[in-house]
Amino acid sequence: MAEKSLYDYNLSDVSDLFFENVGAVVIVDPAIDTYKTIVCRGMFESLLKESGIYHDLILDLWFHFNESNEKVAGEYQIFADNTGVFKTKYSRRLKIVLEGEEKPRFVQLTVYPFEDTKKYIFIMDEFVDNESLQETLTSKKIDAVQGTFLFSMYIDLVADTTSSINVSEISDDVVNYNLKYSDWRMMIVNMIWPEDQEQFLRRTDPEYLKANFTPGRTSSYDCMMRNLEGKFIWVKLIFSRAQTYNEDDYRFVFMVQDINDDSIEMLSTLQTYEEKATRDPLTGLYNHGEIENQFNSAIAHRQKTDDPVSLMMMDLDHFKDVNDNYGHAVGDTTLQHFAKILLDIIPEEKFIAGRWGGEEFVLICRDREIAKAAELAEKIRAKVDEYLFPEIAHITCSIGVTELKAEDGFTEAFNRLDKAMYASKQGGRNKVTVL
Ligand code: GH3
Ligand code: MG
Ligand code: MG
Repeated sequence: MAEKSLYDYNLSDVSDLFFENVGAVVIVDPAIDTYKTIVCRGMFESLLKESGIYHDLILDLWFHFNESNEKVAGEYQIFADNTGVFKTKYSRRLKIVLEGEEKPRFVQLTVYPFEDTKKYIFIMDEFVDNESLQETLTSKKIDAVQGTFLFSMYIDLVADTTSSINVSEISDDVVNYNLKYSDWRMMIVNMIWPEDQEQFLRRTDPEYLKANFTPGRTSSYDCMMRNLEGKFIWVKLIFSRAQTYNEDDYRFVFMVQDINDDSIEMLSTLQTYEEKATRDPLTGLYNHGEIENQFNSAIAHRQKTDDPVSLMMMDLDHFKDVNDNYGHAVGDTTLQHFAKILLDIIPEEKFIAGRWGGEEFVLICRDREIAKAAELAEKIRAKVDEYLFPEIAHITCSIGVTELKAEDGFTEAFNRLDKAMYASKQGGRNKVTVL
């Protein structure tokens, strides 16, 4: 056969070549949620059926995110950038993870809507290896962006619409969700931590946004939100109103940023510091400041309720002699052992044991009547009396016990407690006095 010249080629040559090479051609009828496959080869053989449910096809083509090959599931599909409604010609590259495969494939998809029949043609081709390598690099970049910015979209409050923003150089186009902003809000709220939902609804209310955002203004707040695995993570919700000269233009960019790792780290650092700030470094018991706080909160509680609160003050007897005879280090060890005895004896976690200063200790016993507290004090006294301390062997303590009265302020309660302890000293030490 003679070689054809350029001018001999016609449309039928082109379509022959096209149908011999194209990866897949599919006709879609969104009205009955069905697609029919016209051409199918290569990777598309495992993706397409002769005919199938259009929505399932959309899920296979679009809903894979990040490094994970897992699909975007359930309610999170509204975070993905297509619901499969096309009004005009549309083309983009997609990352597709086939069942049983680790490596994603990259596909160019073009959609042509038939205007008259409201059906579409999907034309798909897979990129060859070297191209897909490039795409993998790009996809890594997207993953990096999506790693911090989980999601972003445009909102138009006047039209009550939402649309996606593509975070990549793969495609700059904007796809209409066909999802009203008002509906979107009510869907998203279910992914927010229950206690944060009210705030979310208040701050995403169109009237709130209109009233509080001048053009160009950005504002954000943090809350917990369920991620793809259903776990709650910390996110930053960012709203930014478009810079516009038209006062009636209320377009916003909305972004969700993943701040979970940072927040968790910050919270645990904060907790460590908070913990340190309330503890006495030598004994590990609560320090003076924290005992004062707890004392005051016990008083406030007692004023509101009839729940009994008993207080105990313990002071080591002739402790100065320990320092004088054995040295300061032995004195310190003695204090540590005393603290340990205390912690071993006190029965409940909500008993607050602290070092008031020097060799004086305070115990706040919530829900404990004075008779029971006196019993406990006697147990502590006896235990210390019989305990074999390192080096010094023997030391005793004097204890004062009192119960909070409804009318007590800090000074009244504390003076009575101090007086009780002092009475034990006066009475010969190694004693418990109840006042
Ligand atoms: P009393 O029976 O009347 O309570 O006599 P005392 O010797 O225990 O009381 P005093 O208040 O005279 O002495 C308390 C001593 O506790 C004085 C101080 O050197 C010592 N002390 C205070 N804080 C510490 C500490 O952190 N480590 C050590 N090793 N000693 C301390
Ligand atoms: Mg003492
Ligand atoms: Mg003392």
